[in-house]
Amino acid sequence: MSKLSRAEMLQLLAITDKAELAELYRRAYAVKKQFVGTKVYFRGIVELSNVCKKNCYYCGIRSGNPKVEHFSLTKDEAVKSALWAYEQQYGSVVIQSGERDDAEFVDFIEDIVRTVRAKSNNELGITLSLGEQSEETYKRWFDAGAHRYLLRIESSNRELYAKLHPADHDWDKRVNCIRTLKKLGYQCGTGVMIGLPYQTLEHLVDDIMFFEAEDIDMIGMGPYIPHEDTPLAKALPDYNEEEHLELALKMIAVCRIALQDVNIASTTALQALKDDGREMGLLAGANIIMPNITETKYRGNYQLYKGKPCMDENANQCRGCLETRITSIGEEIGYAQWGDSPHYKG
Ligand code: SAH
Ligand code: SF4
Repeated sequence: MSKLSRAEMLQLLAITDKAELAELYRRAYAVKKQFVGTKVYFRGIVELSNVCKKNCYYCGIRSGNPKVEHFSLTKDEAVKSALWAYEQQYGSVVIQSGERDDAEFVDFIEDIVRTVRAKSNNELGITLSLGEQSEETYKRWFDAGAHRYLLRIESSNRELYAKLHPADHDWDKRVNCIRTLKKLGYQCGTGVMIGLPYQTLEHLVDDIMFFEAEDIDMIGMGPYIPHEDTPLAKALPDYNEEEHLELALKMIAVCRIALQDVNIASTTALQALKDDGREMGLLAGANIIMPNITETKYRGNYQLYKGKPCMDENANQCRGCLETRITSIGEEIGYAQWGDSPHYKG
């Protein structure tokens, strides 16, 4: 049972008064402290490829964007990045990419997962974020050594989902993928974009209820950020970065209070809106950070949204910068640990 009623969640998401906001974040932080502690866990993100067969109306690397310069890491590059994270004691990595489901891609991922596991003495945790796949594919990747999977539902509301995607992108299929992942034994993460065109606070409350109903272990949510080369670019003419950041922080806080023991990521999109957006996310109840470990030369090509931060920094610079940022808010980094969601029961 959620610790908050619908009405309470709605009321909290609607707060605008600064003192009330501070109180909301304080309350969420206390719940975080009690249920997951104040250690922050890192998942280094390997952005594997921007080749995507889907055409989500909000995303900069959608197949219908002719301006995308395509890149795909080689196996060696991907393995090297992941092992760099291992050497830095990041504990785990997320391998993320545009969606492909051809046999060559499925084999390629399986091979990378096996290699990274073997070369890290089975110590580095591996999360995949590679979109919708068949049960057989998910099973092969699980058997190869991946143990967590991130698949955002984007919105738990079918009608809203339908406005943001072409007709052949199927909400039910996506939900079934989440259920299959759980059935196979993955720790399963999902999430939504916050502040989407046509989205209401009621939708966001429904999203939290969805996370709870689907017994989700990890939440990865971030503010929606328009990308100029997408069909939705002009859907929010009054887009306000500050308001979007605030709504995203409120959503993190309400999720923490309602769901208590899940892992919640403070995503890069928060930092895209404000330099210390991710630290604000940690203080509003998140406990996971996903540093970008992609080689600098490819960063510019993996722009899901505009204004992605740290485009010209390398992974080493990111590490030093993050450590300072996290210790400055009084939190500790859980180096060399998987940092599993306490919600996951196996
Ligand atoms: N292709 C995979 C993984 C890469 S996309 C998938 O879609 O699951 C990762 C996430 O980026 C998506 O789930 C989406 O929520 C987010 N994203 C895409 N475009 C965005 C935008 N304009 N603003 C904020 N987040 C966006
Ligand atoms: Fe592809 Fe994911 Fe972007 Fe959709 S959100 S277009 S599936 S990369």
